[in-house]
Amino acid sequence: MTDHTSIMLNLINDLWFLKRDIVSDGYDQALFRLRDELAASGLSMIIHEYPSGEPCWTWKVPEKWTCHEAFLETLDGRRLIDYAAHPLHVVSYSLPFEGVVSREELLHHLYAHPRLPDAVPFVFKYYDRDWGLCATQNLRDSLTDEAYRVVIRSSFEPGTLKVGEMIIPGQSKQSFVLVAHLCHPAMVNDDLTGVLVGMDVMRALIARISDLQSANREQRMYYTYRLLILPETIGSVAYLSHHEPLIPDIKGGLFLEMLGNDSPHALQSSFQPDSQVDRCLSAAFRGLDPHRLYSTAGYQGPYRTIIDNDERQFNAPGVRVPMLSLSRVEAPKSTGRPPYPEYHSSLDTPAIITQERLEASRDLILGLIDAHERNQYIVNNFKGEIFCSGYGIWIDYRVNPQGHRRLFEIMERCDGEHTVADIASALDISFQAVWEIAALLESKGLVWFSRTPHSTDPKNRIAKAPNP
Ligand SMILES: [Zn+2]
Repeated sequence: MTDHTSIMLNLINDLWFLKRDIVSDGYDQALFRLRDELAASGLSMIIHEYPSGEPCWTWKVPEKWTCHEAFLETLDGRRLIDYAAHPLHVVSYSLPFEGVVSREELLHHLYAHPRLPDAVPFVFKYYDRDWGLCATQNLRDSLTDEAYRVVIRSSFEPGTLKVGEMIIPGQSKQSFVLVAHLCHPAMVNDDLTGVLVGMDVMRALIARISDLQSANREQRMYYTYRLLILPETIGSVAYLSHHEPLIPDIKGGLFLEMLGNDSPHALQSSFQPDSQVDRCLSAAFRGLDPHRLYSTAGYQGPYRTIIDNDERQFNAPGVRVPMLSLSRVEAPKSTGRPPYPEYHSSLDTPAIITQERLEASRDLILGLIDAHERNQYIVNNFKGEIFCSGYGIWIDYRVNPQGHRRLFEIMERCDGEHTVADIASALDISFQAVWEIAALLESKGLVWFSRTPHSTDPKNRIAKAPNP
């Protein structure tokens, strides 16, 4: 077990049962703990605060919600449900309510999980004001009395929505953003796992820079990397609406969620599947071979076919940041199956996640980031086909016909108009397969890499010559 991973698991054990409703003391407590943990490793987290009522484009920040006490009792005082035993027993953002209600009325306000008879469901009503309790289906089915006593002592008051941000500055102010949400009371996989894997990715990136600094102080990653830890949806809207000048420089991003359960990785494209970030991450995902660790191969799907989350706010009109998402989802939404069996229930506990899966997800994300750093236009120093034998790079087609063909297919696209990801996407092969050839050609002085297009087509050069 690496030190980082034991930090991840320790934090999960400490934080998972907190009442992490979107604007709440429990959420703040978790965020402050993560900030302190990073500070102990010499890393800093900025905490942005947005007060209740603050406009965020078409939204506004909700009030802070606290549930002080809640229970359901029989009229002779037998307690059936108690918020003190599990935070999911009360609908998140439930109105306060106290009184004796008929069985029929109670059932309108008592939610059970549609698939898991022994689990308490996660139900939230952030914007449609009502009171509600949650129980197992088994308990709900056992209610036969005429009337019951309900007590929900909840309160709404001004507070601040908090977004944690960790930044690793690169050579460029163009950034790549990782996002995960810290809300959801007493659940783990959705989405403490995304938060902690994201933090571990940032730790690993920082560690690399420190290594590089000792060798060469000029070295930095090209892109600036940001990790945002926030409450779902409203947190993304609050951050983006208060950082509009930053948006044009966000080149792309990856939303992280559900990374501890026993399912293969699923990579979901952004709203702009032809963006460089999409092409790059998609081709790199193919080359990272995540199925080596699992019986089922990792898979990819178009925007909004695997999971819906904060990536929607980044992809939306007026923002249009190509943000993909990485999760472990059993099957696409079209199958009608839940993302994982324990989704949005009291069974989403530390028992369903493992250290190996968190580490594998972290390593996969680092591999995707490596590809993103390397994705540049390949500019030819050569004209015509390369005399491969002369450079010692010829692949004998009689011995390796596929390798021979691939070398030529990649070489003929090295024209300053295609990135590594463009070529991988056109040839339907992995990013890494193209990178291997590109790096070989570069080592022979035959190509160079450019962050911007640099066409070597003589017609383009004439066309682009300034008018006299
Ligand atoms: Zn959720």
